[in-house]
Order: sequence, then structure tokens, then C-alpha cells
Amino acid sequence: MPLDIRRLIEQESGNNYSLHAQHVNPRFARVLKTIGFDRCYGRALGSHLWDLEGTRYLDMISGYGMFALGRNHPGVRQAIQDFLDLEYVSLVQMEAPLLSGLLARELKKRVPTELDTVYFTNSGTEGVETAIKFARCATGRPAILFCKSAFHGLSNGSLALNGDDTFRKGFAPFLPETRRIPFNDLAALEQALAAGDVAAFVVEPVQGKGVNVPADDYLSQAAELCRRHGALLVADEVQSGMGRTGRFLACEHDTAGVVPDILVLSKALSGGYVPVGAVMTRRSVYDRVFSSLERAVVHSSTFGQGSLAMVAGLATLAAYDEEDVIPHAARMGAYLRQRLDGMVGRFQFLKSVRGRGMMIGIELGEPVSFRLRTAWSMVHRMDASLFPQALIMPLLDEHHVITQVAGHHMDVIKLLPPLNLSQEDADWFLDAFKQVLGQLERFPGPAWDVLVRMGRHTLGDRHRRGAA
Ligand code: PMP
Repeated sequence: MPLDIRRLIEQESGNNYSLHAQHVNPRFARVLKTIGFDRCYGRALGSHLWDLEGTRYLDMISGYGMFALGRNHPGVRQAIQDFLDLEYVSLVQMEAPLLSGLLARELKKRVPTELDTVYFTNSGTEGVETAIKFARCATGRPAILFCKSAFHGLSNGSLALNGDDTFRKGFAPFLPETRRIPFNDLAALEQALAAGDVAAFVVEPVQGKGVNVPADDYLSQAAELCRRHGALLVADEVQSGMGRTGRFLACEHDTAGVVPDILVLSKALSGGYVPVGAVMTRRSVYDRVFSSLERAVVHSSTFGQGSLAMVAGLATLAAYDEEDVIPHAARMGAYLRQRLDGMVGRFQFLKSVRGRGMMIGIELGEPVSFRLRTAWSMVHRMDASLFPQALIMPLLDEHHVITQVAGHHMDVIKLLPPLNLSQEDADWFLDAFKQVLGQLERFPGPAWDVLVRMGRHTLGDRHRRGAA
């Protein structure tokens, strides 16, 4: 009997956490339970999810940024359905596929003309791996520079460029000649480049972890330094690209203008439907890597250029144009930012807001009142990553809004909403956020009780693991 997927989902709905506890990632299932995120969602459309009881949730993280068009975008879905009905070819391998040619042509219309050839990948991390290989091959040099707090993926090469030790711990040794420098620090970059053996500087135009925005001309200055020292500039726009910051590329915000030598895209490129990524390079880089007929497929992957991914990519770009997604993102990002900025100074725990467009970091900080400061210190002593949960948990529990922390050991909440978020949904989040910030100013109070319970839980877990 063929699989009746509708029936299977109907029968098993609600078993999500027991299945994961048994077969997938029990520890993560437990984390979700601890923070009250153990919901079962059964339906999604646009910026909304519904749980099995029919409660509607607002998605302010869009699957880590990939549902830039919202979930189950009808235009992209239609294109995929139509395509499946065509019984069209995919992955013949010994052919030049039509659809990847078309998607490459579309992508090139949206980036600087110097970025001449497109290599398709199945993920962001694979794009970064590709960039590392291309840069080494094109320059004949070994070293790769990356930034403190950087996140470029978790496969071996990209993990070697991860600027957060929490991710690195336990996985050494790393790819050799990978060197960490501070973000947004041109003097440090110049000093590192002076070693003379640097193939590339890999950088996120806006860092995803912490949502760190560099100086307005940092990237163009970095590109100039790289050029002077014979190194390539790799812009990892896996998260910041595809309109996330209100421009197609976050690089476009640089006041002096910057063209990276290698650009990495992924996440939103397929509207979230199919894994896909793209590495766009200058012709000079391409020519060095694919330098002879013999080397024409020296870098490739079996699923790269899969037709379904290419169709989803083409349909996504069409939807961006049709629906003016990027200008909307710029406007809505500015609105969220302005309203959030207006809350700074009115709530003790809210320190600042930063970001670009629809990539927003909300920095929390120590309050002024003695009583609240004591509570703040107590929570931080228990666990340096715990405090933002004081907002994230009630946002979900009481207001049905999904948000996330911006990284380990930091007091930053990150927003990556769908780029086509409506004003009504933006207000849903803003009103909810205002309320949870207000609640936190009452100590003792229910918001704090939850934190203390969680802190004890983490301490207990740490103690048990330490003893094991
Ligand atoms: N680079 C950046 C900037 C990212 O944000 C991410 C994912 N969060 C990656 C690379 C890795 O992408 P993937 O998870 O698709 O491997």
C-alpha cells in the first residue's frame, strides 16, 4: 500500500515528543519541555502556526530565517505542485540542467555584476565549505580568518570558523590555519592579513549570533585590505541575505559599496520548502578552481542543482518581486525598530535594540533598582544563558509568540520574522513584548518563579552530569 501521509500524521499527531525522546534527540526534547516549548504544531500558514488544539501562534523566528515568505507560501507551493505534475527530469548528472541555469541567471540579476558564476549547494554550511575550498584553491594559500561570535554552520570546515566555544567544545582538532579575529576591527584584520598566507576573510555582514552590526564602511574597508594583501573577502549572507535586512544583500548597506569575492546564500532561497544554497563567485575565482576540462567537476555534490530546489528558488524570487517583499521588509523592520526603541528607558531590563531591517537584536541588561538587580544577579549566577527565557517563555505561554535567544551566554533576544509580516502581527508581538517586560519588573512574581525553577533544573542537570 502506498503511504497515506494524511492518515499517518492524523494517527500519530501528539506523539512528537515521545518519538523524539525515544529515537531522535532526547536531550533536545527535554530542553523544550523545560522551557515549555513542547508544543505540537499541526498547521502553518504565513506568519502563523496552529497547535493541535487550534491555538494560533505568531512566528517571529521563521525557522531561523528561512521562511522569509512565511510558511506554505501559496505561490511557491503552486509552482512545486505544478512541477511535480510535469514528471520533469532532475539530476541526470551527465547533462546541464535547465532549471539551475535559470535560477543562476535570476540570482545574478540581484547581485553585483562581478559575481559571475553560481555554484548550488544543499545548505548554508555546504556553501561555506565551498567558499573555504574555492578560496584556498584560488589563492594557493592556507589560512582562513573568521570573527569572534561568527556562525557559519556546524560541519567540520565551517565549525573551524565558529567564533563561539560552546559549539567547538569536544570537536577538536579543527581545520588547520583557521584564525579568529575580533569582529568590526580593521586593525586586527590588517594585522592578521600581514602574515601573508591568508586565503580569505569569511564574515557575516550582520552577525547572526548576537545580531552584531559593523560600522557602515567596515565591509568595504575589509575588502580593500583583503585586496591589498592578496586575500579574498567571503560574505556569508546565509542569514542576512535574501532581503532579510531590507536590501537583497546586507552588503548593500555599506556606505562605500562592497563587492565580495565570494558570496554565500541559502536559507530563504527556496522559501523554506527545499534545502538549497548558492555560492556566487567572481570569474577569476571560478577559473582557478575549475581550471581545466579535467577539473570541470572538481567540486560537486549529488543533490546540488536538484530540480525541486531550483523550482522553489525560482518561485521564491518571483514572489519577492510580485509582492514587493524587500521594500515591505525595510518598512516593517523600521516600524518594529522604532517601536522597540521607544520602549528603551521605559523598562528597566531593556537596554538597547540593534540590527538591520528584519534582523533585530534586543539587548537586555542589569536593572537600576536594587531589588531587581539582586534578582538579576541571582539568575545569572545560576546560568549565564537563562535570563532571556524570562521573556521568551511568557511570550510563548501567555501571548503565543515564538521568539529565540540570539546565542549562548548573552542577554539578547533575536527577531527574524517573515519578511512579509503584517502590521497587525508586528503589533501582536510589540504589545506582548511590552507586557512581559512590565511583568518582569514585579519581583517577586510569577515570571521570576519560573526562572528560579529553571535555574535549579539546570544546576541539577549539571550536577548530575558532573557526577556521572
Ligand atoms: N552561515 C550563517 C550566517 C548562518 O546563519 C547559518 C545557519 N544559521 C549557516 C551559515 C549554516 O547554514 P545551515 O544551517 O543551512 O548549514
